[in-house]
Amino acid sequence: MTDLTSLTLAEARKGLADKTFTSLELTDAHLSAIEKARVLNAFVLETPEQARSMAREADARIARGEVGPLAGIPLGIKDLFATKGVRTTACSKILGNFVPTYESTVTSQLWRDGAVMLGKLNNDEFAMGSANETSCFGPVGNPWRREGSNTTLVPGGSSGGSASAVAALLCMGATATDTGGSIRQPAAFTATVGIKPTYGRCSRWGIVAFASSLDQAGPIARTTRDAAMLLRSMAGHDPKDTTSVDIAVPDYEAAIGKSVKGMKIGIPKEYRLDGMPAEIEKLWEAGAAWLKAAGAELVEVSLPHTKYALPAYYIVAPAEASSNLARYDGVRYGLREPGRNIIEQYENTRAEGFGAEVRRRVMIGTYVLSAGYYDAYYLRAQKVRTLIKKDFEDCFAKGVNAILTPATPSAAFGIGEKGGADPVEMYLNDIFTVTVNMAGLPGIAVPSGKDAQGLPLGLQLIGRPFEEETLFSLGEVIEQAAGRFTPARWW
Ligand code: GLN
Repeated sequence: MTDLTSLTLAEARKGLADKTFTSLELTDAHLSAIEKARVLNAFVLETPEQARSMAREADARIARGEVGPLAGIPLGIKDLFATKGVRTTACSKILGNFVPTYESTVTSQLWRDGAVMLGKLNNDEFAMGSANETSCFGPVGNPWRREGSNTTLVPGGSSGGSASAVAALLCMGATATDTGGSIRQPAAFTATVGIKPTYGRCSRWGIVAFASSLDQAGPIARTTRDAAMLLRSMAGHDPKDTTSVDIAVPDYEAAIGKSVKGMKIGIPKEYRLDGMPAEIEKLWEAGAAWLKAAGAELVEVSLPHTKYALPAYYIVAPAEASSNLARYDGVRYGLREPGRNIIEQYENTRAEGFGAEVRRRVMIGTYVLSAGYYDAYYLRAQKVRTLIKKDFEDCFAKGVNAILTPATPSAAFGIGEKGGADPVEMYLNDIFTVTVNMAGLPGIAVPSGKDAQGLPLGLQLIGRPFEEETLFSLGEVIEQAAGRFTPARWW
């Protein structure tokens, strides 16, 4: 039998249905792969007993013919999703050993559909970062290395554990979240597929909040088809999240292989950055050529406010974060550092519990929201946000079905290589992804090629609200043309 971990989710579904193997066998294969890959630090908590019991349950259901869409499929869960009875930390010391008494809506839907939980995945602390280096559990290794080099590279962030685990064949798919690029950028750095659906498509209930008007859950998977299967289970209206939208969830998988003939694809001229590496430029052209060969029409479009997206994001996101993180005071959750009075207890707990990047965001956020600065920063950023959204609306009003851009301005970099002296160097990673969150649109990152050093690169497709299906159809065209990429095992 081929190594069960190398199957795609769709192949595993068939193998399970045909009784070629059991969910317990599939789960055990992944648990042993996880054990051998601890050097990657992708999992912050392994839950083998729970995994085996869920797998046995799935096998029993399969035997009875009650096959849920993800029956018996082992997944990893980003540690930002509350899992009932299983430690959930957002990879922050301040949550300590917090064990939720409830399950996030997204994960409960995965379990409803029969999936198996292998454990909790590493991420940047409170999902703030682009390299998974701010986690209190330490950085995650990217399974990809530069050709001829032993340097460990970052998997991107904040969903670095999710991307690394999926790329290293430790789980068949993973949950992730994206506030400014945290699904798409790590997917691009690891040759995996990541989709951030439209804001409101997935419930945010039970997901540790970073910036509530930007946060969205989505899957990271090995193929566009696998991502479509996962999103179908994750999405849906939830009365517990008033921003979740009551629109029926389509069968996303049906969009895989659908013709893209006649679709209008926008190429935004503002994404052609000065000093952009030639190989990113080449990749972008290749992507456009593949879509054209599949019958799509390419048009140049303009998104004039693009250059303000990153600065506006880094006002809006920290502002919301500073407010969301006010709840971590040492009284109700996790860590408590005593003080002589309650104020000192708050101060000591927050100083000790939050890492440097989170503290920076809380300070920026508090500053931009404070009296006297609110109008100059926060209000202005919100106005810019409206203009960014309008840029996209104008473009879609001209009949554009989707927009093609690079996913990231570079391939993966080494641990500790970026952002040490200047945090903005790290923030620049999100240059192509934050606009999509600011506008609430769906975006997918699909592996598309490699750079000169053999590292994967991805392209991004941005869609109209609630038209994720278009992204799956187009993403599949790119996947078919580019082929699939798997890292050589060194761990
Ligand atoms: N890298 C961005 C940030 O640090 C986005 C993170 C995310 O999407 N969660 O804010």
